[in-house]
Amino acid sequence: MTALHEVAPTQHRADLQPYTYVRQELVEPDWRRFPGWRDVTDTQWRDAQWQRANCVKNPKQLRTLTGDLLTDRFYDELAADQQQSATMSMLVPPHMLNTIAPDASLDPEAFTEAFLRDPIRRYMIPVRSDRDPDWPSHPHSTRDSLHEAEMWVVEGLTHRYPTKVLAELVSTCPQYCGHCTRMDLVGNSTPQVQKHKLTLKPVDRQEQMIDYLKRTPGVRDVVVSGGDVANVPWPQLESFLMRLLDIDTVRDVRLATKALAGLPQHWLQPKVVEGLERVARTAGRRGVNLAIHTHVNHVQSVTPLVAEAARTALEVGVRDVRNQGVLMKGVNATPDDLLDLCFALQGEANILPYYFYMCDMIPNAEHWRVAVWEAQELQHAIMGYLPGYATPRIVCDVPYVGKRWVHQLHEYDRELGISYWTKNYRTGIELDDPEALDRRYPYYDPISTLPETGRRWWSEQA
Ligand code: SF4
Repeated sequence: MTALHEVAPTQHRADLQPYTYVRQELVEPDWRRFPGWRDVTDTQWRDAQWQRANCVKNPKQLRTLTGDLLTDRFYDELAADQQQSATMSMLVPPHMLNTIAPDASLDPEAFTEAFLRDPIRRYMIPVRSDRDPDWPSHPHSTRDSLHEAEMWVVEGLTHRYPTKVLAELVSTCPQYCGHCTRMDLVGNSTPQVQKHKLTLKPVDRQEQMIDYLKRTPGVRDVVVSGGDVANVPWPQLESFLMRLLDIDTVRDVRLATKALAGLPQHWLQPKVVEGLERVARTAGRRGVNLAIHTHVNHVQSVTPLVAEAARTALEVGVRDVRNQGVLMKGVNATPDDLLDLCFALQGEANILPYYFYMCDMIPNAEHWRVAVWEAQELQHAIMGYLPGYATPRIVCDVPYVGKRWVHQLHEYDRELGISYWTKNYRTGIELDDPEALDRRYPYYDPISTLPETGRRWWSEQA
């Protein structure tokens, strides 16, 4: 026996690796554990209309659903947050709520603890104690932190990158996420945030978007978004997509919908599946890449129904279903959480792990945000486990720049938590700006992640 032979049996022992992959079967948590859904049948649960009609929109409905499972301590925390901090109103579909604390004991104290700790609860139903007590908002946070509305070429059509546009068809979603980057526009107003409104009629807005794309052949890629396209009545969405596919310079169409994971029943309705098949067939005939982009942040969200919705879309001809998650502390900002999620998406649901965005610099989001160096460490930690094409990139969406891989920064002041980024194209509002490509654009780490000297500096500025 050589030394080589002696070490060989241990070389592939998974328990010697920082991360251990174990295949996990997907499970739909039992919704009947909630008192309010004790008698809900499988048929009702699979019904998209039932799901929409039974969304939880306020603490009273949550109480009716959960009976005495959540103690008053939780409701006090929730009320305080809704009054003082929330930038999004509450809207949680039953399917999504059912993925919170799926294995918790039904003893009220234990259930409340599990509910508070739960990663999906932390971003769908935020409470006061989640927020950063010292710096709930970064001094440079802004409502429309990516300046999308500034770059509208017609209402709702953001032309930020040279060859791509974002078409916001609607300002609502079937679910509202606490960290929504479009908190400026999406959803209902909260005590803290008076939302802006789209003013054109949907039909006029869509007309103007199509018109712009016809006159701008350099745009080849259209992200059809919102809000969530699941809230656009299907005939209207199909008509818009067919008109897009009529423009022969459009070569990529991506549908943005968190509902694929939050309300998969929507994407399993026969009228939607049949319509999607017609669109996919047309896209295929015209050689256009039609994809669905969804937004899943934690492995608990990947259930058999989500996998069924993704596979159904693929079966009817959608080329790819991809995930764009958001990297958030307390939700998924560890290597194990990211890898568990990516393996479930890739291996069990045929959803390609594509991006994790760093949470944007909107108000009251500091407790979710990670520093750029933390994101770099996470990117390093998840390399090499998944197939290369399914290894997600962690990206920082730098204001006035766009998405950058987290290692692409130009300079980094770790003490003050300011990174500087450059870019290689002009956004729609800088076409006449001779310095746009030479400028350095700042991005800011959460102040709580800085060394003492950096935290002091920010306090002095404040
Ligand atoms: S689904 Fe997307 S657009 Fe809608 S609230 Fe969540 S993050 Fe915002």
